[in-house]
Amino acid sequence: MFENLSERLSGVFDRLTKQGALSDEDVKTALREVRVALLEADVSLPVARDFVKAVQDKATGQAVTKSVTPGQQVVKIVHDALIDVLRGEGEPGHLKVDNPPAPILMVGLQGGGKTTTTAKLAKRLKEKDGKRVLMASLDVNRPAAMEQLAILGLQIGVDTLPIVKGEDPVAIAKRAKTQAGLGGYDVYMLDTAGRLSIDEELMSQVEAVRNVANPRETLLVVDGLTGQDAVHTAENFDERIGITGVVLTRMDGDGRGGAALSMRAVTGKPIRYVGLGEKMDALETFEPDRIAGRILG
Ligand code: GDP
Repeated sequence: MFENLSERLSGVFDRLTKQGALSDEDVKTALREVRVALLEADVSLPVARDFVKAVQDKATGQAVTKSVTPGQQVVKIVHDALIDVLRGEGEPGHLKVDNPPAPILMVGLQGGGKTTTTAKLAKRLKEKDGKRVLMASLDVNRPAAMEQLAILGLQIGVDTLPIVKGEDPVAIAKRAKTQAGLGGYDVYMLDTAGRLSIDEELMSQVEAVRNVANPRETLLVVDGLTGQDAVHTAENFDERIGITGVVLTRMDGDGRGGAALSMRAVTGKPIRYVGLGEKMDALETFEPDRIAGRILG
């Protein structure tokens, strides 16, 4: 997930830890390399700058450079700073789905992995939390997308709202709510339509659905390989719709990881899950300490 960044950083820190005694200047040089590595991983500039500054403030001066193992101390400070930049509020995988039936709104651009993630998350809620889940596709422009959700539902043993031709997204959302209440479901998930790019029509449609569903959680699903674009998409959706968290998909690819590092700092919204493949089990909760450990190898 963070192979390149991880490799770059371990190069920098290997040199630092092998060096023994360190001057403030040594630390500064190393942190300049860290900054370059972050930028190459497509971390946004202000985030990389603030990150390096926070580490520098803690790592230079008497206490660290005069300690017995200065290099390791610097690594520890970087580790803690990574956790800070990644951390969101609340528990990473914990969704607010009490008071049944709890609506979860899934939003994002087309091709980001929204439908796949809806099914992965439904499976997780069912198997890990024992929830009864109903999924509904609101993608009326793409019958294939509606079919895709129904097929995934069968595959994972989660019910989907029957498809009624000609219905608009708001009507489907209302029917899902009624059906979820009558059918005794704990959670209902609304898989909204995506577009290739953010446009007024997409946003007003999602907004209309949000207004009738009043979702407990609104998760933006976005392709992690798109780096800073993913962060901009999140900013846009949050401004217009209000999101409660992000799912970064395709983190199994050779992504540079920048989206993961910038997301929280730029948007203020936590990454809740990461998608790690096409299979229905390839969804992990996003845990900052584990991710920081992975980045530092
Ligand atoms: P949507 O248009 O946003 O609903 O996107 P889909 O859910 O249809 O996903 C588009 C493609 O991306 C499909 O082929 C998925 O199998 C694939 N996909 C989704 N999530 C992941 C992921 O985490 N990793 C990988 N490698 N592929 C994914």
